Amino acid sequence: MIDEGNLPNAIVETVRRLQDKGFNHGNSGNVSRRLSGGMLITPTGANSANLTPDRLVHVDAAGVVTGECIPSSEWHMHAAILNAYPAANAVIHTHADACVALACLRKPLPSFHYMVAAFGGTDVRCARYATFGTVDLGASAVEALKDRTACLLANHGMIAIGKTLEAAFQTTVKLETLARQYLMALQVGEPALLPEAEMERVGKRYGNYGTGLLPG
Ligand SMILES: [Zn+2]
Repeated sequence: MIDEGNLPNAIVETVRRLQDKGFNHGNSGNVSRRLSGGMLITPTGANSANLTPDRLVHVDAAGVVTGECIPSSEWHMHAAILNAYPAANAVIHTHADACVALACLRKPLPSFHYMVAAFGGTDVRCARYATFGTVDLGASAVEALKDRTACLLANHGMIAIGKTLEAAFQTTVKLETLARQYLMALQVGEPALLPEAEMERVGKRYGNYGTGLLPG
């Protein structure tokens, strides 16, 4: 469990855990956490080897940056998501392999497995393509995250959101695992998809159908 008692330390710990999972290639991932009128976000070029709590950057609601480092090039996307979804406090973006592969096919993750309902609906959408680091990419991600805790980004990667960094991290692991399993199934045939009524039944068991964020 990631301890959020000290948010800078918690973000550094999240980056380390993403790197341990092999989800951050080079400096590609970024993590943010809602904090006092804005967010704390990883700096550009961050990885678990060079990231320390004092290198994190605060960006307020007006986009004013406080810190010695430059915020992640994707800070517009993180800010747009936190602004659009007040129930979310943490945003994780990675270029994890299976998510990237699926996102490059511009396919959503469909209801091939009941656990897809854990993301809030019958699928995990693939956001329309927009250039990295742009305000438009933020708008695209916000659209794709409606009633969901995750989305893919076309020809780019994935996003997971959560009430806590731990929740967003677990959603990231779940999405990458399911994307890999879906791609494996696609190699030998067309996976059977669960009907919407079954996904709704499963979603109700998870307690988050149509809302995305799990309670608690
Ligand atoms: Zn990226």
